[in-house]
Order: sequence, then C-alpha cells, then structure tokens
Amino acid sequence: MTAFAIRGETFAFVADPFAGPPHEAYRHDSDGAVVIENGGIREMGTAADVLARNPGIVVDHYPGHLVLAGFVDCHIHYPQTRVIASYGAQLIDWLNTYTFPAELAFADPGHAAAAAEVFFAEVLRNGTTTVSSYCTVHPQSVDAFFAAASARNLRVAGGKVLMDRNAPAGLTDTPQSAYDDTKALIARWHGKGRNVYAVSPRFAPTSSPEQLEAAGAVWREHPGTLMQTHLNENKDEIAWVRQLFPDAPDYFGVYERFGLTGPGANFGHAIHLTERERVALRESGSGISHCPTSNTFIGSGLFDLAGMREIPVGLATDIGGGSSFSMLATMKAAYEVAQLRGHSLHPVRAFYLASLGSARVLRMDHQIGNLARGFEADVIVLDPRAKPLLAERVGQARSIEDVLFALMILGDDRAVKAVYAAGNRLV
Ligand SMILES: [Zn+2]
Repeated sequence: MTAFAIRGETFAFVADPFAGPPHEAYRHDSDGAVVIENGGIREMGTAADVLARNPGIVVDHYPGHLVLAGFVDCHIHYPQTRVIASYGAQLIDWLNTYTFPAELAFADPGHAAAAAEVFFAEVLRNGTTTVSSYCTVHPQSVDAFFAAASARNLRVAGGKVLMDRNAPAGLTDTPQSAYDDTKALIARWHGKGRNVYAVSPRFAPTSSPEQLEAAGAVWREHPGTLMQTHLNENKDEIAWVRQLFPDAPDYFGVYERFGLTGPGANFGHAIHLTERERVALRESGSGISHCPTSNTFIGSGLFDLAGMREIPVGLATDIGGGSSFSMLATMKAAYEVAQLRGHSLHPVRAFYLASLGSARVLRMDHQIGNLARGFEADVIVLDPRAKPLLAERVGQARSIEDVLFALMILGDDRAVKAVYAAGNRLV
C-alpha cells in the first residue's frame, strides 16, 4: 500500500495520565500529520515537518478536526445489539427476560452473520475500531463475529460464551464441549489476521466448578489468548455466587481457584469489591472493564474508579446492558459516575480509558490505542463542531482539554467524521 498522510489536529498520549498530571501526558499539534504505510503508522509530527520530509505524499486533510487513535471498547456483547434499550430489569431478570431469548437465535448461522454486520456497522459509525466481544454459546456465533471483523481487517477479541447451568437448555454446553469448542475456535481464529481469542465463561453462576476448571485449562494451554468474564456487578448476583461457591473467600476467589486470573484476564464491572479482592486483582495483574452506561441503566451501582489505583482499567459499553455504542457517551457516563462518588474525571484521563487504557486491559497497548510510530493505523477523525450546540460550546473553549471535555459531554456518532482501520478508510 502506498504511503499517505492524515492531516489535522493530532492528539496522542506520551504517558499514562493516571500516573501523573494529565496535562503532561499528551502531545497535541494544532496542525499535525500522521504518515500511514502498510497498515501501520510510519511517522508523525507537525504537518510542516512531516510534509517537508515526504514531498508529494497524498494527504487526507481535515482542517479543524481532531485526529486520534480509534476507540477501544473492552467489554461488549455483539449478540445483544437488539436488546439495547429494554425496559425495567436488574441483572438476573435482565438476563432471563432479554438476553437469553436474544442469544438463542444465534444457533442459526444466517442470523449470526446478519447480526455481526449490523453490529460492526454501528461500532465503526461511533469511531470504535477494536472491541472485545462475548459471542453466544454457539460456535457459529464466533465464526460470524471473526468473519465480519476479518472482512474489515479490524483488531478484535472475542470468544464463545461458556454456560453449563442456570441458563435455558438451548444455551448450555458442558465442561467437555466448552473445552473442545474453545480449543477448535482458537485453532480456527486466534492469530489469524488481527483476531485474538478470548476464553469467555459468562460468569461464575452459569458455570459449574468443572466447567470453570476446563476454562482455566484451555486458557493456560494457549498463551497469548485472553480471558473475559463478569465480576461483582450486582448485589443479588454476589449473594448467589456465595451460595453456589460456599468455600470461596469471595467472588474473585472463585476465579482465582480455577486459574482464571492474571495478565490478560478482563473482568467486567467490578463495582462491589472487597478490600481483599482489590488487592488480589492488583497483585494478579488482571484488568477491569468499566461499563458506566450499563451500571446506571441496569441499576447495578457506581464504579469506584479512584479506588482502582494500579489496576489496569479500560472503558466499555457493555451493549446491550449499556445504553449507547458511543464511547463519547460512555466517557460522559464515566464522568457522571465519578461525580456521584465525589471525583471529577479529567477529559484526558477519560480519552485514555477509552483508547490506550482499554488496549492495556487487552494486552494490545503496544499495537493500538495511540498514535505512535510502529502502532497499527487505527485512526479516527472527530469534528468538534458536528452539531450546533457543540460548535457553540467549542467556540468558547480555551484549550484542547476543554475541547475534549465538550466532545465527551455533548458528542455522539455525528462527531465521527472518518474512521481508518489498518490504514483503510471504512467510514
Ligand atoms: Zn457484560
């Protein structure tokens, strides 16, 4: 592929904004450029420097637009796209009333393929270039997911949901079939193109101890794959786990016992943590997906972002429990949840969570989530004047940080002007 440049207001991280002052954690060029070659970022800097070094290069020029790394949504359920905005249930009712009936339809490969198309169109429209998605119990739902991602050359993670109890008959497998199916799917998809497999037990209540054992074994046998599940989302759920696993010290302790913790383990929610769990999460190197629109929409609770300290945290929509595909809307919800806990989430930190932070949870922070030389060219272009009120507000902004804040509070898919994945313009 011939090299080309994207020119606009570039924004990139140079440090972790949670480790120090946020204003020292980024580089912003009001007229910057990124050179893309063979799907990767070859160089970046001020437009004047970059264009002088690359005379005659083709330029996609977006004056007055922000150019940044694509968003990374580290916890989502593509089969639940159609149950978004479903009324009146908390977690366990939610699963039984909305989620499980929707997932049953994925036994049909045609349905799964059509759903994956709708899903990726929506994800990309919102500027998200990487997701880590749960599929359903059916291997064909995983095939549909990775096939649709591969057709767009996206870096994604995903995996077959494992459930062998407390779920409808059409959605359950067994410890053995969970192991066998996962192993076969890893062989078929993991490391093919930009696909990464995530071993995906739904959560402790829907897996027997034998199945969690099998999940731990297959994850251990395939280094480089990820593991994703849910943790401490809802108080009734936590009480149920205590009943089902009376010998475990707590919810996280269930996953520890079966070898489902450590780097590459990605726990959704983690709202109601004990101090022991917090320490164990940190010491294990596991990551957390913060899903604020889901947590408020399903009424699960207020995530304690400030209490996570060195635990890697990413930002996620958790569709269909979440109420928006937009990572801008998700940042807004994270800001509101933090406000209700007495802290203000700085916009640079919010954008970090939505990109490099999520990439870190997925162990992809050397590949995606930032604009930097050697990174894969997943790049988005945002229009900070995409709608009248946003334009009015941004007209008053005194800094790039203020522009970012206005975008995350007032922005949505209308602000997404262009999306490039591996250097290909998809939107
Ligand atoms: Zn979820």
